[in-house]
Amino acid sequence: MNMGEGLALSRTVLVVEDEAVNQQMLGKILGEKYICEYANNGKEAIRMLMEDSRRYSLILLDLFMPEMDGFEVLEVIKEDSALKKIPVIVLTSEKDAEVKSLQLGAVDFIPKPYDLPEVILARVRRTIELSEDRDIISATQSDPLTGLFTREFFMEYALLHDKSYPYVGMDAIVLNINRFHLVNEMHGREFGDKVLQRVANKLRSITRRQHGVACRTDSDTFLVYVPHAVEPEKILDEVIGGVSDILDNPRVRFRMGVYANVNRMLDMNRRFDCALLACNSIRSDYTRQIAFYDEEMHDKETYAERLIGDVERALANHEFIVYYQPKFNIKGEEDVLSSAEALIRWNHPELGMVRPDVFIPLFEENGLVQDLDRFVWREAAAQIRKWRDKYHITIPVSVNVSRIDMLEPNFVEEVSRIVSDNDIRPEDYLLEVTESAYTESADQIIAIVTELRNRGFKVEMDDFGSGYSSLNMLSALPIDVLKLDMGFIRNIHTSPKDFGMVELMMDIAKFLSVPVVAEGVENKEQFDLLKKAGIDVIQGFYFSKPLPPQEFEKFIEEKAVKEQ
Ligand code: C2E
Ligand code: MG
Ligand code: MG
Repeated sequence: MNMGEGLALSRTVLVVEDEAVNQQMLGKILGEKYICEYANNGKEAIRMLMEDSRRYSLILLDLFMPEMDGFEVLEVIKEDSALKKIPVIVLTSEKDAEVKSLQLGAVDFIPKPYDLPEVILARVRRTIELSEDRDIISATQSDPLTGLFTREFFMEYALLHDKSYPYVGMDAIVLNINRFHLVNEMHGREFGDKVLQRVANKLRSITRRQHGVACRTDSDTFLVYVPHAVEPEKILDEVIGGVSDILDNPRVRFRMGVYANVNRMLDMNRRFDCALLACNSIRSDYTRQIAFYDEEMHDKETYAERLIGDVERALANHEFIVYYQPKFNIKGEEDVLSSAEALIRWNHPELGMVRPDVFIPLFEENGLVQDLDRFVWREAAAQIRKWRDKYHITIPVSVNVSRIDMLEPNFVEEVSRIVSDNDIRPEDYLLEVTESAYTESADQIIAIVTELRNRGFKVEMDDFGSGYSSLNMLSALPIDVLKLDMGFIRNIHTSPKDFGMVELMMDIAKFLSVPVVAEGVENKEQFDLLKKAGIDVIQGFYFSKPLPPQEFEKFIEEKAVKEQ
């Protein structure tokens, strides 16, 4: 197999040679078939290679040069995983040097004075072909279902493509079939395979025509690398045209993410990550089929990466702090402070206050949330104790628990220890578990919640109504409190329908015999309606925003005075 034939265009050769005459001679011999770039000594060569190693298909290296000689260059190349992939032919007139340079990793040598041009050309061509074949053979070549390249092979090929068309702007495109599993479920796997094959055939003919490359990855995702001049809309139309006669379910649709005019300094995989990000941004937007990776997406991603990178330092520097938002029991004549929710805040030295709904979902994806949660749990427990010591009353505090926290084998032990370390009672330490956690790994979560309750902890179901609990499952759930999702409260004072929903959920709570907390209560109208509906506890800006512990103390002081 020789991929070189398929891509008939030029490769770039780096000629490292201090003598101008020799540079010119080699340039003349190679110039018709290859693009030559020149370095006058080893230092310059290393600088050029480091700048963009992927650009070069071959290095022709003179051994004796000022500044940094060829042996030193070979030493540097040997130690660098990217540079090591570029074959080196040594240019030398000394027999002894040949052995040493071969030992240092050179693949061949061209004796000085230079041979017949054809001989040099043949050696250069052969060396490049061998190295490219080696790169490519190391990857499994094709996907048995569609005959397109595998992802690994595709990446190699795309890099090769870059070398062959160094000045052509390229687009990295990800094409996904949304809800492809429905196709398999409804029509069977064989039919699903047929759809994938049709898509592949279209992509193959497009990329052949347009000098691009395509592959299939992760069952229903395709990657396409094509010159920027090709319009993504046309590719999409053609692909859809290829399957529209058999695929007419409106819920199954194509979505495409395009990273246009890729930056060649980025790793090939990264380029497709960008396209994938764009593609995923329209996963649930049925009005758009194509999304372009843009500045805003890039900024968001960079911001996210920055936050992730800063966590460790932030924990060490005490940039995370815990705020407390009061919950009031409104059942009686007077509203009474009943407990507080601990909510994390990030006081970032450069970005200012970063909101948890920005960083928590991000850190839930990569597990970092566990470190933060542990920190909050300890702080909250210590705070309950401090307030008890200071005011001689216990203010129960609830902490948020992520799904992955609960699946940690020693989770129950850990919270138990936190509580006993601070000498507080488990029933004063409430755990908020979001509804969606229950639906994702139901059996496990239920077992853990049961264990927690056996040990005396109180468990609240957070954001109730935003997940997808089925009603029959709800009745089996071991919980102590239902916390209505804020979304239901927002419009109750303007929309009778929304208020009706709240009443409905009150009925569910009554059926389960658990009290209800409404959070996100902002104004008097909402408050009055909720009181009328029989809600037990309210948390929201109507009473107070989350506050640092010192400011929160005004609520405790008021309560302590009343209780005396
Ligand atoms: P959540 O647990 O549902 O917390 C309630 C959120 O509603 C808090 O946002 C609170 O400040 C906000 N809120 C309270 N009253 C009102 C109101 O009247 N109007 C409006 N518009 N908002 C109100 P916050 O502090 O930004 O936290 C957002 C989410 O981040 C939390 O939602 C929770 O899911 C998560 N979170 C916060 N702290 C932690 C933590 O320590 N660990 C974990 N795993 N998640 C946390
Ligand atoms: Mg909560
Ligand atoms: Mg909530």
